[in-house]
Order: sequence, then C-alpha cells, then structure tokens
Amino acid sequence: MKLFENHNLKSYNTFGMEVFARQFVELETAEETSAAVAEYLQQWPYYILGGGSNTLFTNDFDGTIVHPAFHGVERMEENSDNVLLRVAAGEPWENLIQYCIKHEYYGLENLTAIPGLVGSAPVQNIGAYGVEVKDTVYKVQGYILSTRNPFELSNADCLFGYRNSIFKQTLKNDCIITYVWFQLSKKKHFTLSYQGLAKALEERELPLTLHCVSDCVRKIREAKLPDPKIVGNGGSFFKNPVISVEKYRDLLTQYPDLVAYDAPDGCKKLSAGQLIEKSGWKGRRVGKAGTWKNQALVLVNYGGATPKEVLGVAETIIKDVKTLFDITLEMEINRI
Ligand SMILES: Cc1cc2nc3c(=O)[nH]c(=O)nc-3n(C[C@H](O)[C@H](O)[C@H](O)COP(=O)(O)OP(=O)(O)OC[C@H]3O[C@@H](n4cnc5c(N)ncnc54)[C@H](O)[C@@H]3O)c2cc1C
Repeated sequence: MKLFENHNLKSYNTFGMEVFARQFVELETAEETSAAVAEYLQQWPYYILGGGSNTLFTNDFDGTIVHPAFHGVERMEENSDNVLLRVAAGEPWENLIQYCIKHEYYGLENLTAIPGLVGSAPVQNIGAYGVEVKDTVYKVQGYILSTRNPFELSNADCLFGYRNSIFKQTLKNDCIITYVWFQLSKKKHFTLSYQGLAKALEERELPLTLHCVSDCVRKIREAKLPDPKIVGNGGSFFKNPVISVEKYRDLLTQYPDLVAYDAPDGCKKLSAGQLIEKSGWKGRRVGKAGTWKNQALVLVNYGGATPKEVLGVAETIIKDVKTLFDITLEMEINRI
C-alpha cells in the first residue's frame, strides 16, 4: 500500500477539480484492505475513490481517500454456455470490455467506454443503451468498514435498481468492494432495444460482432459526450426522473414530443437531458461552467471552473426544470 499526504486529486476526478486530500491511501492488493482500514480509517472522514468519474469534489478533502489500485481479470469457471469472471476493483472498466471482446464474452458490450473502475460499477448499477451492469453481476465481494468483516453479496442481495444498489443505501461509504464477479454468455446475443444503437448498426450493414457493437456504441458516445481528458465532466449529472403516467399524460398536452420510457410500477421515465434542453440550458455557459453542446445532461468544466460554479449551474437547472415541468431533478453525481 502507498500513502501520500496532501495529495492533489486533479488527475483522480474527471471534472478536473484541483482539490487536495489530507491523506491518500492506494491499495495495491485486495488483501491490504483490512490493514488499511485498521490503520488509516479510524481517525478522519474517508471516501473510497475509484476513477472519480462520478464524483464532484466540492472542496479539499480533510480526511483519507482510499483508492483501490489492484488489477486483474480471472476466469473462475466456464462451460459451453457461460463464463464466470472475477475482476479486481481497480481494473479500469474499459480493460474489462476489451478483454470480453477479445475472448468473445457477451453481455457488457453496450457499456463500452463508460469511464471508471470495475469496483464502482455495481455502486450505481451503471447502465447504457438498454443494458445495466446488474444483468451480468454474479456476486460482489469486499470488506465492511463498520464491522471490519469481509462480505459477499449475491446479485439479489445487491438490491440493484435504476442507478441504485445497496452500496448507495445501507452500505453507502461503509464498504470497500474488492472484486466483482460477472457471469457472461459465450453464445452470441446482443441487446438492441435502444433504437439509436439498432439504427446505427443497421446503417453500417456489417455482420453483428462484439467488436462491431462495441465500436458503434463508442462512436455514438463520442458524438454526444465530451471526452473528460479534454473537457472536464462527470457524465450525466442528473438522474432521469420517474413520474406517474397521469403526470406524463398531463405534460404531453403541453409538450407532445416529450420522450418517455416504461419504468417499474407503471411509471414513466423521462429524459432529464430533454427537460434541461427545453429549459434553455443546452450548451449554455455561466463563467467557466455550463452544459455540453451536444448533451444538456452533461455539466462541464470549460477550464478552471470551481466546484461552486458547477454547483451553481446545477442548482439553477434544477430550479428552471421545476418551474417549467414541476419535476425536481435529482443529482446522479456524488458530491464530496
Ligand atoms: C464522460 C462520462 C460518461 C459516463 N457515462 C456513463 C454511462 O453511460 N452510464 C453510467 O451509468 N455512468 C456513466 N458515467 C458515470 C461513471 O463513469 C460511472 O458511474 C462509473 O462507474 C464511476 O466509476 P469511478 O471508478 O470513476 O467511480 P468514482 O467516481 O470514483 O466513485 C463512484 C462511487 O462509487 C464508490 N466507489 C468507488 N469505488 C469503490 C469501491 N471499490 N468500493 C466501494 N465503493 C466504491 C465511491 O465512493 C462513489 O460513491 C459517465 C461518466 C463520464 C465522465
């Protein structure tokens, strides 16, 4: 394990905020977790940080950051239909995608090019283009901080929901995920329920392969989302709001083009990006912060923005969307 004092977090958060952590503990193996907890997590506040692509630091962090930096993808079991992989928390998500393409394992290709590390993927049940990580997570292993015990949670135990899981509820900031196990298919199958993806693949007129689907997802994302290496951002800043069907019908009378997807319990999930866009926020800039020109749901740091500026934009958007649609947007990003 490595220990750093007064550590600059600029390269550990995709918003590119220049903030400092009092202490930064980098875990080089999963086995170091319990020792790190005993030694470093008793005195000050702490935060478990993966790639920082779903984290907005709002200030210097006067405590200890724990960063799992151990890697590895292991094949644990295999039959003619499926494979079971155990992946270390510090493995970059994109490495896992590339591994699956290389070995022809199906299930994660729609989640191509999501930034971050594997250990964070179950936390908010990452999802894109009709697929959520819960569809392939077999179990999650880690360490509970309050009880100092190891844990192992099955898929059902993880209580996955839309951008939600037990790791955002009862285990929030109380566990370090060390390994995520994935059950993936060795039989060719794709999820093409997302119209934009199906259409783009049709236009390519290529035989459907893992590589082709993954590449198509990447191209769609590149056209819509800013590259955090160039323009600081944290992806979708807000969750898509879920509303009753009655409210949706009411809104349709005023906004007939309002997009909605079916959600559990007969509700409708709206596109937060569309609501923000209709509130006049697409590509708008206030000082050094604003929204992205091709996707209003993405708040960006145009260069040198302070956390206060980004939050100021977020709060004004919430207010404007509330005024127009009577819907309160909820932030998806973790504010620390
Ligand atoms: C350009 C861009 C596009 C994006 N697109 C998508 C998308 O399509 N779909 C989507 O769902 N998300 C998307 N995101 C959000 C983000 O990439 C994901 O949420 C990702 O899983 C976060 O990974 P991270 O390692 O960067 O997490 P971090 O920001 O480091 O952490 C996120 C949360 O997980 C916790 N955590 C991290 N590691 C661990 C661990 N080992 N144990 C316990 N808790 C842990 C943290 O404490 C925090 O609560 C996007 C972000 C960006 C910048």
